[in-house]
Amino acid sequence: MADYYNTLGVDRNATPEEIKKAYRKLARKLHPDVAGPEGAEKFKEVSEAYDVLSNKEKRQMYDLGGADAVRNGGGFGGGGGGFGFGGGLDDIFSTFFGGGAAERGPASRVRRGADSLVGLSLSLKEVVFGAEKKISIDALTECSTCHGQMTAPGTDPVTCSQCHGSGSVQRVSNSILGQMVSVVACPQCQGYGTIISTPCPECAGEGRVRSHRSVTVNIPAGVENGMRIRMQGRGDAGIAGGPAGDLFLEVDIAEDPNFMRDGDNLVGFIDVPMTSAALGTTFDVETFDGPHTVKIEPGMQAGDILTLSGLGVGRLNRGTRGDLKLHISVTTPTHLDDEQRALLEQLASLRGEERQAKPVTAGESVFSKIRDKFTGRSS
Ligand SMILES: [Zn+2]
Ligand SMILES: [Zn+2]
Repeated sequence: MADYYNTLGVDRNATPEEIKKAYRKLARKLHPDVAGPEGAEKFKEVSEAYDVLSNKEKRQMYDLGGADAVRNGGGFGGGGGGFGFGGGLDDIFSTFFGGGAAERGPASRVRRGADSLVGLSLSLKEVVFGAEKKISIDALTECSTCHGQMTAPGTDPVTCSQCHGSGSVQRVSNSILGQMVSVVACPQCQGYGTIISTPCPECAGEGRVRSHRSVTVNIPAGVENGMRIRMQGRGDAGIAGGPAGDLFLEVDIAEDPNFMRDGDNLVGFIDVPMTSAALGTTFDVETFDGPHTVKIEPGMQAGDILTLSGLGVGRLNRGTRGDLKLHISVTTPTHLDDEQRALLEQLASLRGEERQAKPVTAGESVFSKIRDKFTGRSS
């Protein structure tokens, strides 16, 4: 039996934060979309370990009695009477308390399905406007032959001959404290009270089959990178009619060649020829909303920012949008022919700028400001 702490690579007294961090790191690396089928098995183990260790109650049970204690302890939501048999917690308790818990009936096979995690790639444009995405996932779905009941059609589970359907048997053991009677799960039926003697041929008695299915999901505008969107009941099907797990979509926003995101705003970069910057001009810029005419006032400087209101990122669940901020850079003409050179020399002479330049401190530099903004704080 795998050690959940080992699986996640954390210490036995790791904090919930450390466990979450370790899980996220592994989940990214081992996700089936990334690591392929080889990763899928490991991913499952990691998810199982995280499911237990991230839940205070389950983790306590696990620390006391191992994985079986958690699995049989009714810790999975909606388990409906999932008592702790099979060497789990109840076994330990019944040993301590002299087997007082005899009449509790057979364990239920009903279990909630596991949660699934799937990566969801979005373009920046899809984040700006929101999008309807069709994603395909690999999940356990209810077997259509037995409808999750595990038995071959037309057959029923048979009553266990060893425990006569009670699911438990008494065990007498000698210890240093004297003779102890404990009630343990029936070894023949694992505590269920019944045995599936004719398992469904389609799912081999699992009640579920692994299948590929596609899910359509409406992604709202303004989602953040790394955000997880929860789709209730769209994970693995439950066992024996138990509720399905949830599907989590982890948002991964692709880089855009033209625009960057800065919170609710979009940021773009525009090159303006020196002459246009000096004289003023209008030009068309391609935005996510289509072409947009932008006016440059005479005397525009490199580093100036033009704000196009309402052309930014949609704000999550608010219906409003941020702005598009265009950062201006001014390009200096190169490859001057004789006539152009003469004109520029004449202009420089008229303005008394033949030999003029002044140092700029780092704090004033437009580019250092831009650089700080995008490499420092808003990564
Ligand atoms: Zn089946
Ligand atoms: Zn039995």
